[in-house]
Amino acid sequence: MADRKVVIIGSGPAGLTAALYAARANLSPLLIEGLEAGGQLMLTTMVENWPGYRDGIMGPDLMAEMRAQAERFGTEVIQGNVKSVDLQMRPFTLSFGDGRTAVTTESLIIATGASARWLEIGSDRKLSGHGVSTCATCDGYFFRGKPIAVIGGGDSAVEEAVYLTKFASKVTVVHRRDTLRASKIMQDKAFANPKIEFIWDSEVAEVKDLAKGEVTGIVLRNLKTGHLSEVPLDGVFIAIGHTPNTTLFKGQVDLDGNGYIVTHHGTRTNIPGVFAAGDVQDHIYRQAITAAGSGCMAALDAERYLEHLPEIDESTDSAACATLVP
Ligand code: NAP
Repeated sequence: MADRKVVIIGSGPAGLTAALYAARANLSPLLIEGLEAGGQLMLTTMVENWPGYRDGIMGPDLMAEMRAQAERFGTEVIQGNVKSVDLQMRPFTLSFGDGRTAVTTESLIIATGASARWLEIGSDRKLSGHGVSTCATCDGYFFRGKPIAVIGGGDSAVEEAVYLTKFASKVTVVHRRDTLRASKIMQDKAFANPKIEFIWDSEVAEVKDLAKGEVTGIVLRNLKTGHLSEVPLDGVFIAIGHTPNTTLFKGQVDLDGNGYIVTHHGTRTNIPGVFAAGDVQDHIYRQAITAAGSGCMAALDAERYLEHLPEIDESTDSAACATLVP
């Protein structure tokens, strides 16, 4: 017998929505929240694109509400970093590696998200939410009529730069090389946009001004000459890619070339009974609302899977179980 019918790993919008639906289906879910509890919205200030809040809601407040709602219907939330998973044998086993007893479960919803990459220069993270952002869709609106920079040269950076020209007075794209990685069509769009300027072969040495607690400019280092220069501006969008949090599942769950979990027919993974929701399986939309939507789907998929699951002997192997999946 498994300890649980459903375990959810991850406590962002996807995980908490999955928990809400699983709890309301009387599945008494266990939700394991890791070190970055609440996900990327904990790093945001005002969220203005979550339906239902016409004046917006602070990211951490939204996550606190979602968590309370999931708990109200019977979700048990525990903190802990899952150190290893065994998805080859049923029930699935999740181990913590800190002396705690492992948890076994009949189904698993992976909602571990993706983490935006930072420049790792210190000042960028410290000014996060105070002029530095990793999400143009979330925060672009705050920079109406102001000069800003986008860091990066991939599709995300170029797409965000074009998007941000709707708000900003000027968008400076800072790239560490002299050619963009972005697709040709995105490049053409950006080059044709009179509000976008490019600074090549440069990296951000510092985001100013930590003392003031707000962004007043960036110090750039030219990587060919070493020359330092300062660009005054009000906002910095870092778009140097995301890293899906899938290390734990490597070798067990199918991942795509960029490390994202591959899902099919909704939220199903290659392992029957294991589902994935939110940014851990979505590098395209990456919105809180789409993550929440896929969390709902994962809970419904898990519920249907469990309905069709006969009593399983613990010695039953996964290959035999695979044939039971609806
Ligand atoms: P990406 O393609 O990996 O590009 C990351 C960019 O950031 C690269 O230009 C890279 O420079 C730069 N970079 C990485 N680390 C850096 C650092 N420490 N300091 C400064 N610059 C750094 O990531 P992405 O743009 O987020 O795209 C991810 C995937 O999603 C891609 O497959 C992309 O095509 C796709 N995507 C598609 C769309 C679309 O089709 N509409 C939109 C967004 C993303 P280098 O070029 O020098 O490596």
